[in-house]
Amino acid sequence: MPLIPLRPLLEAAEAHNYAQGAFNVNAVCQAKAVIEVHELFRSPAILQGADLANAFMGGRTDFQNGTLEDKKKGAKNIAAAVKKYGEHSPVPVVLHLDHGRDFDSCVAAIEGGYTSVMIDGSSLPYEENVELTREVVKYAHPRGVSVEGELGVLAGVEDHVFAADSTYTNPLTAIDFLKRTGVDALAISYGTMHGASKGKGVKLRREIPTAIRECMSHEGIRAFLVSHGSSTVPRYIVEEINALGGNIQNAYGISKEELKAAIPCGIRKINVDTDIRLAVTRDLRELFRDRPELREDPQVGGVWKLLDEKRDAFDPRAFLPPIMDAVMYGTGEGESLKAVTDAIEKGVKEAVGSLIVEFGSVGRAPLVALDSLEDMARRYKEGV
Ligand SMILES: [Zn+2]
Repeated sequence: MPLIPLRPLLEAAEAHNYAQGAFNVNAVCQAKAVIEVHELFRSPAILQGADLANAFMGGRTDFQNGTLEDKKKGAKNIAAAVKKYGEHSPVPVVLHLDHGRDFDSCVAAIEGGYTSVMIDGSSLPYEENVELTREVVKYAHPRGVSVEGELGVLAGVEDHVFAADSTYTNPLTAIDFLKRTGVDALAISYGTMHGASKGKGVKLRREIPTAIRECMSHEGIRAFLVSHGSSTVPRYIVEEINALGGNIQNAYGISKEELKAAIPCGIRKINVDTDIRLAVTRDLRELFRDRPELREDPQVGGVWKLLDEKRDAFDPRAFLPPIMDAVMYGTGEGESLKAVTDAIEKGVKEAVGSLIVEFGSVGRAPLVALDSLEDMARRYKEGV
């Protein structure tokens, strides 16, 4: 089946009280692995490309400086990969833009084939956030594309998103925002944090989603709450990276117990990126330890060089520039390249598979209404 919008997945999650993990991808083999592991668990799937992941997939290894043109090219590459593996998948697959920076980035993603977009106006003054988000909804909904907005500020670093301090989402403002923008999903700030250093023993303010959800039901608003910055940062993986020559310090995630307790409070989409980055970094380090001859390999030796130079890095994008054709298009032949992409896929599957189980989306694929973009456009028009 073609890729479907986000909304039907979140409707199923709400109706059956579970959450969907939403997993970031930066390379063709990662998209393949995320889809395959969802198939293994018969779970619906949400794949995310962050705004700057689009730039990276557009060939900008210095993705922080990516232009709109780079993002357009990259959005097409990610969408091509997700369609290749997702359109013939037995599970429903959504491709969602994570942290769309402005109206044009959202349009670029939609034109590239994304079925859902986030517009992040959370750093803007409130009225400007409402205005920008409403503008994106006005463009996306007639095309059947779902929209996620954000209200409240999460601390931490995630690609271009940086904030030193957090501001929790005010439930009263959230209701006003939902009413005025018509978004399908809302990212809230309730104690999660972007990046790998969330601090020890984070407690989530579950009363925030609880209050918003309660008021939504009184007001007849049908939207869904999203938890960003929700990586669990598995301790064992960090320790393994460090034992393999890495140097990752002060890495603490949100505990699985905290996240799972937020699900019955109305959290229906949980964004995870760091866990995948960590598992992939460990598997790459392990590969070059077990097969030292690959360090000198003309095709993939450059990946090892970067791993060896950047011991405190755990974003695979820091190591993959030597194999950009494989990253962007899934092309390139040879046993050594396959060994590297296999290692990446293995890391993705471990991180994603364990969270599919924790968040409760195992076996839920048949529960999702398979609304196409056209079906969804009609539903928006008719208000159903
Ligand atoms: Zn985020």
